[in-house]
Amino acid sequence: MIYDETILTGQRQRLVQQLKRKHITNQAVLGAIGIVPRHKFMKPDMAEFAYNDSAYPIGAGQTISQPYTVAFQTTLLCPEPGLKIMEIGTGSGYQAAILETLGLEVHSIERQQKLYEQTKRLLSLLKYQVNLYLGDGYLGLPAEAPFDRILITAGAREIPTDLLFQLKLNGTMVLPVGPESKQVMTRITRVDFEDFEQETFGEFTFVPMLNGIEKI
Ligand code: SAH
Repeated sequence: MIYDETILTGQRQRLVQQLKRKHITNQAVLGAIGIVPRHKFMKPDMAEFAYNDSAYPIGAGQTISQPYTVAFQTTLLCPEPGLKIMEIGTGSGYQAAILETLGLEVHSIERQQKLYEQTKRLLSLLKYQVNLYLGDGYLGLPAEAPFDRILITAGAREIPTDLLFQLKLNGTMVLPVGPESKQVMTRITRVDFEDFEQETFGEFTFVPMLNGIEKI
């Protein structure tokens, strides 16, 4: 891997072109993918593949999502500067970095202590201003609620309905829902205090959303 900024910028631009061919059109999202150094969020021995449109292992049995999936979920969120978002599944921190680059106020939860600590160090080293929590995403962050947006980056067997009540009115939650083998990308909007609307957007495969915290 040659860590030359010009080469890396070129590789990121090629990734952006690839995502455009896959019908990602949101300019702000493409802009963020073109800036965030994905190679720094990957294991050193895999960094050379960082600008391929693929998911890779990040340790602790978890993966950094495929750039297409990150771009797709981020587009569904209709991101705008200043919106307050809760992400469930910090993982490598790449998605959180994309959201911060887009100007959102990011609160991200990870259940695995090892990943949480590793990613907290990395994001502060890279100077991303994000709030990270070691916790169980099924509980959300009642002290920080309500949120404009909620993003779940692990596959939920069913919609975690409790979390819907941590949304602001007209807020949306984007999440993959379904069994371990395959999930349906789903967007839920809180249209009234007790009233939610649901849209679906095709199939994806994520690592599962699990209960409880995993300590080192
Ligand atoms: N957004 C991440 C993708 C990580 S994969 C990235 O950009 O790299 C999904 C992550 O969700 C894993 O790190 C996993 O440990 C975490 N996870 C699974 N269930 C969770 C839960 N209930 N609460 C918080 N994190 C969870």
